[in-house]
Amino acid sequence: MRLTKRATARMAVAGVVAVTLVVTSAPASAAPAAAGHSGEPPKTPTAHGYGGAVSTVDPTATAVGLDVLRRGGNAVDAAVAAAATLGVTEPFSAGIGGGGFFVYYDARTRRVHTIDGRESAPASIRADSFVDPASGTPYPFQQARVSGLSVGVPGTLLTWHEALRRWGSRPLSAALAPAAEVAGRGFVVDATFRQQVAENEAAFAQFDATRQLYLPGGQPPAVGSIQRNRDLADTYRQIARRGVDVFYTGPIGADLVEAVRRPPVAADPTVPWRYPIQPGGMTRADLARYELRFPAPTRSDYRGYQVYGMSTPSSGGVAVGEALNILERFDLAGMTVTEALHHYLEASALAYADRNRYVADGTSRRILDELLNDRYAAERACQLDPGRAAPKPVPPGEPDGRYGDCATGAAGAEPNPGQSTTNLTVADRWGNVVEYTLTIEQTGGNAMVVPGRGFLLNNELTDFTFAQTPGAAPDPNLPAPGKRPRSSMSPTIVLDDGRPFLALGTPGGATIITTVLQVLVNRIDLGMSLPEAMAAPRASQRNSAAPQAEPAFVSAYGSALDALDHPPFTSTAELGAATAIEFTGRHGLVASAEPVRRGGGAAGVVRPGR
Ligand code: GLU
Repeated sequence: MRLTKRATARMAVAGVVAVTLVVTSAPASAAPAAAGHSGEPPKTPTAHGYGGAVSTVDPTATAVGLDVLRRGGNAVDAAVAAAATLGVTEPFSAGIGGGGFFVYYDARTRRVHTIDGRESAPASIRADSFVDPASGTPYPFQQARVSGLSVGVPGTLLTWHEALRRWGSRPLSAALAPAAEVAGRGFVVDATFRQQVAENEAAFAQFDATRQLYLPGGQPPAVGSIQRNRDLADTYRQIARRGVDVFYTGPIGADLVEAVRRPPVAADPTVPWRYPIQPGGMTRADLARYELRFPAPTRSDYRGYQVYGMSTPSSGGVAVGEALNILERFDLAGMTVTEALHHYLEASALAYADRNRYVADGTSRRILDELLNDRYAAERACQLDPGRAAPKPVPPGEPDGRYGDCATGAAGAEPNPGQSTTNLTVADRWGNVVEYTLTIEQTGGNAMVVPGRGFLLNNELTDFTFAQTPGAAPDPNLPAPGKRPRSSMSPTIVLDDGRPFLALGTPGGATIITTVLQVLVNRIDLGMSLPEAMAAPRASQRNSAAPQAEPAFVSAYGSALDALDHPPFTSTAELGAATAIEFTGRHGLVASAEPVRRGGGAAGVVRPGR
């Protein structure tokens, strides 16, 4: 079963810090789209203005980020404070039990930096750790997920610490304070929160700590009830007082490792679970050894813009960049929308074939450079027939530096795509920009709350390929000690002559790459405004004979694309939950969140106006 996630406004309890922040701050960022209870942080998908902007899926997190900006904090201060708040209000998608990718544009140096805070595999992992020794076949996904085996060493807290140390102006303790307050005082449960628990009920019921927090009285929390997480408030406060070592080498880490090694399974689960819950091999040494990485961003130039993305272990930057390089060979703006979408879908499939075959943690710099080489894109573009879709899957190319002939090869399979995650975009008055995607993998992670600590563990290691397909080309994404599972997360910052033009990102597992690409094409090629580009119906072709599309996309373009030989779309209610900011010149900002998907997001600016 795959869990989907919808994020909606979560009204903070009257008196919660975020409410106070909004109410006492100079003008509210924008009029609430749907007026809620008094004191509810504003929730609007689009905000125009100046002086800084924040876009997240959650109005409380956006309010916290805006307040930091209003009080003189910079984009990094605001991004970390908002992310810590998402760890409270979006606990099934984000938190210190997980990992993510932080992309930062520094206005002073005009350079883009990245932090790879992806979870890493423990030293004990083996290439066949996700293969059942009894049957010789990969474990069922849910068995692998709800286990200690799936837990990667978390990088999120260290990402916050290091981002602030390098580029922030406030200490981590200040960034954690509003989130701790929201956790301690609580927020009102909405339909989405309840639904996410309900979808996880069987998994959550297996663990006392998870059950106590999220299944009060044995049921998902009622809509309208107050959700508090005093353990998480206390965890954040301990970290604020004592620093990140309390997590990586101290008692919080010891509890985390204990939960992984001896899953705290309830003696009397109220709901049956059909799989054994296996322990993992993570040790305190694995946690103490965890290190962030700071890879150079990927870069591809597209129609005069410079598009910066996340390098490995994410495949996002390379795949988005390669697809853009292929698309740049064609005049999309001069085409009908259907023709342009045909090109978008075909370029996605070509980039995905290469991503699956070549891109994972450890891919050589040479191959990454070749995949982003314009001459390679020209070779790949010769596989794109403007009048007809190629049968899927299409084979990967040969990024060998010798280009000219159209390439052939063996098609690779697409591994498990994740479904959870959250994204946020922040800009400050100085022109610094943060694009940050963070996750615990599935909605609800591996379902284990660390007892006494209030946060869920990730199941990120299920992003590894579980087993090599016999007879197929070697899979680059098999588990190995210290390795990080391949991600699709694609936090992206687009510059125009070295200055920010657009920043965007989204959750959505493997569909992240295509959603980021589609929003870019909508905005840059198809003449849409940013809010239109975000709202437009989406499709995702990941080199598959069963591409996905939202119902509105199928009704608008399905038959025209069918006439171009595209395989029928599998209708999917929603693809992604993006956030973005556009820089309009003369310091103007358009903050943009989803108007509808996952209940709609929350965009705000420091000073509204056009
Ligand atoms: N684990 C996924 C990845 O890193 C993200 C999950 C999601 O977005 O739902 O690509």
